[in-house]
Amino acid sequence: MKTQEYIEIEEQYGAHNYHPLDVVITRGEGVWVYDVEGNRYLDCLSAYSALNQGHVHPRILQALIEQAQKVTLTSRAFRNDQLPLLYKELADLSGYEMSLPMNSGAEAVETALKLARKWAYQVKGIPRHQAEIITFENNFHGRTISIISFSSESLYRDDFGAFTPGFITIPYGNSAALERAITPNTAAISVEPIQGEAGVIIPPPGYLSQLREICTRHNILFIADEIQSGLGRTGKLFACDHEQVRPDMIVIGKALSGGFYPVSAVLADRPLLGLFQPGEHGSTFGGNPLGAAVARAALKVIVEEKLVENAAQMGEYFIEQLSEINSPHIKEVRGRGLLIGVELKPQAGGARRFCEALQERGILAKETHQHVIRFAPPLITKQADIDWALPRIRDVLLMP
Ligand SMILES: *Cc1c(COP(=O)(O)O)cnc(C)c1O
Repeated sequence: MKTQEYIEIEEQYGAHNYHPLDVVITRGEGVWVYDVEGNRYLDCLSAYSALNQGHVHPRILQALIEQAQKVTLTSRAFRNDQLPLLYKELADLSGYEMSLPMNSGAEAVETALKLARKWAYQVKGIPRHQAEIITFENNFHGRTISIISFSSESLYRDDFGAFTPGFITIPYGNSAALERAITPNTAAISVEPIQGEAGVIIPPPGYLSQLREICTRHNILFIADEIQSGLGRTGKLFACDHEQVRPDMIVIGKALSGGFYPVSAVLADRPLLGLFQPGEHGSTFGGNPLGAAVARAALKVIVEEKLVENAAQMGEYFIEQLSEINSPHIKEVRGRGLLIGVELKPQAGGARRFCEALQERGILAKETHQHVIRFAPPLITKQADIDWALPRIRDVLLMP
């Protein structure tokens, strides 16, 4: 079957909650994907950072196959021999004493919010059901009803109320706004250290450490959503590390399984994660042995193949080279590690046509928030891959 036939079937039988580029991928390997026509593309989206280790990483594949042949799901009614090792390895890597595994990122965010509320009532002494959690404009934390309740994006929320109460949204990048929003009922802030979906928005220097200081002073939990920015993407293990900020909870997902299988987790120390009692929270698939084995291999690849260091080096090179492109369309090139946004001027007519032109030249990138092209290739990207892409990107950005 050809591209057009796949697209027609998809459009007819599938819900239209996405507007994908018209490329039908059938195979992936490392930084490359191949479509059903046999064309090759450099993947500059990495499934929104779920593919930090690249497509079909052989070591993760091996772990998946081996575990799939042994046992895949036990439910948490019984124990399995992979989850304890994942717990231990996550603790060793992250420096957090405990973790709680879920599947999708949104579920892990929900878990963190529930835990913050429990802490508010049990530890901080906020009257029951009065806890407030502060969130930030242009956030992206997922798609559940509670999470879209604090989205500021009308597309994500307008037709989907009634909303979950208990959330307050303030501007991003302005720590005085946090100070003003705090009440005796404030339990936590939930923040992306870099707002990926909002268009790779990097807060001003010092912002995260100011948030940390304010949270500590007011006895408020600092929850960092590192689902996209974590696990090496920005050239540090966590994006908060750029300011030596240690959140009370970190939420991870996406690259935690290297793109094979949904695995997410909340990381925190014992005084916090120890608050959950049996039965208070759970997930049928969360912490299953297949997911745990895949996550263990995915983490090993990040460490042993030095993907964090590579993201820092390659990111610096990529950003520097992109900044040298002298295009009348470019408003700003910004990024940290291999999370890079090229923001176009409004007169450029939106980023979509540039992404389509990149696709014609063998590069898959996705517009985010209309005017930003995001470049976020896998963290195994080599300088030769970037050098292959640069003249093509330059070509596209110099289009009329
Ligand atoms: C992708 C993402 C999520 C949601 O993850 P899902 O697995 O799609 O539910 C949450 N927060 C951030 C910052 C993300 O990038």
